[in-house]
Amino acid sequence: MHDVLVVGSGFSGFWAAMAAKRLLADGGEVTLLAREPVLQIRPRLYEAHPEELAVDLSPLLTTAGVRFVPGDAQTLDPDRRIVGVAGGAELPYRRLVVATGSQMQRPSVLGADAADAIDTQAEALAFDRRLAQVARECAEPVVAVIGAGFTGIELALELRDRLALHGGEAVGERARIVLIGRSATVGATLGIGPHATIRAALEAARVELLLGVAVAALDDGQVTLADGRRLAADAVVLTTGMRAAPFAAQVPGMRDALGRVLVDGALQAPEAAGVFVTGDAAAADTGDGHLTLQSCQHALQLGRYAGENAARDLLGLPLLTYRQPDYVTCLDLGRSGAVFTRGWERVVTETGAAAKARKRRINTEVIYPPRAASRAELLERARVAGSAEPSEACVAQ
Ligand SMILES: Cc1cc2nc3c(=O)[nH]c(=O)nc-3n(C[C@H](O)[C@H](O)[C@H](O)COP(=O)(O)OP(=O)(O)OC[C@H]3O[C@@H](n4cnc5c(N)ncnc54)[C@H](O)[C@@H]3O)c2cc1C
Repeated sequence: MHDVLVVGSGFSGFWAAMAAKRLLADGGEVTLLAREPVLQIRPRLYEAHPEELAVDLSPLLTTAGVRFVPGDAQTLDPDRRIVGVAGGAELPYRRLVVATGSQMQRPSVLGADAADAIDTQAEALAFDRRLAQVARECAEPVVAVIGAGFTGIELALELRDRLALHGGEAVGERARIVLIGRSATVGATLGIGPHATIRAALEAARVELLLGVAVAALDDGQVTLADGRRLAADAVVLTTGMRAAPFAAQVPGMRDALGRVLVDGALQAPEAAGVFVTGDAAAADTGDGHLTLQSCQHALQLGRYAGENAARDLLGLPLLTYRQPDYVTCLDLGRSGAVFTRGWERVVTETGAAAKARKRRINTEVIYPPRAASRAELLERARVAGSAEPSEACVAQ
């Protein structure tokens, strides 16, 4: 029997396991079930060198005293409190944290299944190999990025330099980068605030925009648009938005349009006793009238709360209400620096080199678990601000 079973080793799952272990200490077993003990640094998968964008969690899990079980969770029986794993194994739990994250939604058009993406490290590596081949073989490569949201913008603005890295500066400069989006506005969900800065960066980088048009097919090196236009492309990469990964569908209860479980203030699934849902798998109230976004910023905080509350529930302690500190965004704009916004109104407070330095700090420090730490230091970093210690770290039920 696993006292707290966490499924998924992303940002939220790792910190959920740490937070649960911090509270239970040696009085309860915390288990992390995931395909591999690896944290993929998904927010950086638009960058060059995707081979560097994963962290081996094994040493940290060992330090913390969290058990790792490899496997792919497939079924959930919330009445018997059992997670079924591919291959037939069953993992019984007292409290469950579902941290299975999200995956990119491929458009349902011809050829989309075979198109490149950068949603996982494996996909980012495959796309990087494609870029290398295109840079070697095409004098004037055309790269089409489909999806003009946060990730599509960041990727499009990196591509010239990434092609140059593989094939020399001239290839990078001669390339045509085309960013295609369904919405009439680039980065529509980022709001009005950073729009002008984004447009200026795309213009400076000579990224061509095809907006307000859906893609109808991707085949034979051609992107066919819904209005009949066709674009010959040497590489096509999808950045078409995310939805909750399939395991979240096993949790009974209501879901939002992204397939996320609508959780209560303590991140519990209202219709599955003992089940907490976190990160990109959960739609939670941030405490200021907004729902969480599928973002690292929210996943890191949601994970800590979900793990803490799973352990609290087990110990018979009052649960904490999830709260998210100020919402911010930091968008990489390639050679134009970055743009940083504050609040849900996305007021631009920093651009250019200063924002770029902040983005670098976020991408190389803030979102990473500690490289090395003692057990006490590691578990302390999982603490939810303001949480009171239990009088006794023992498993109550
Ligand atoms: C290219 C890209 C750029 C991004 N840029 C940003 C950004 O700039 N800022 C930002 O805040 N966010 C960004 N994001 C979003 C951010 O990466 C996610 O919000 C974050 O990873 C969510 O963390 P998570 O722990 O909920 O899920 P994930 O990181 O998706 O981790 C989920 C984990 O669960 C595992 N899993 C899934 N299903 C199962 C199963 N059935 N059994 C076992 N294990 C399972 C997965 O293998 C993985 O280990 C970006 C994402 C991408 C792809």
